[in-house]
Amino acid sequence: MLVDIVPVGDVSAAVKRAASEGLRSVYDCDVTIHEPQPLPSDAFDHGREQYSAEEFIQLAEQVGTGEKNIGVTPKDLFYRRRNYVFGLAYLDGSGSVVSTYRLQTSSDGGFSNRSSEDIFEDRIRKEIVHEIGHTMGLEHCDNKRCVMNFSPTVREVDVKEENLCGTCQRMVL
Ligand SMILES: [Zn+2]
Ligand SMILES: [Zn+2]
Repeated sequence: MLVDIVPVGDVSAAVKRAASEGLRSVYDCDVTIHEPQPLPSDAFDHGREQYSAEEFIQLAEQVGTGEKNIGVTPKDLFYRRRNYVFGLAYLDGSGSVVSTYRLQTSSDGGFSNRSSEDIFEDRIRKEIVHEIGHTMGLEHCDNKRCVMNFSPTVREVDVKEENLCGTCQRMVL
């Protein structure tokens, strides 16, 4: 499987590297990094001052060259009535997206002494692995340590591990 990472907007080298490493460590896949894409201007909602996640998925699908294509953006994303999303994917789809906007908060709830960069990159890896999991057909998992656990706050992201639990692994690997 080839996963193409599509940077949308100004994405740092460290973020691209974290995304790529996360995918390679969990899935049996090749990873390419696409040319950066401009922000889809029609995706911006002036009332909410956020971007619509679905447009980023479409963009990743259109320009990506992988079997799976994942947009990565520093912009804040929304989906329907949810105030924000860390990412979005359709079950068994080819496109998905992750926003780093809300992953970059300094605190990890005080349960480690790791640097904020480390914690940030950890969260990126987990969210990228999570969204690609959805595109491979995985739904949310009840296991709080599983990367497919639904994690609406960074606190929950920090609790889960970067890996699929045994049950999820058996479904896709
Ligand atoms: Zn999810
Ligand atoms: Zn699981």
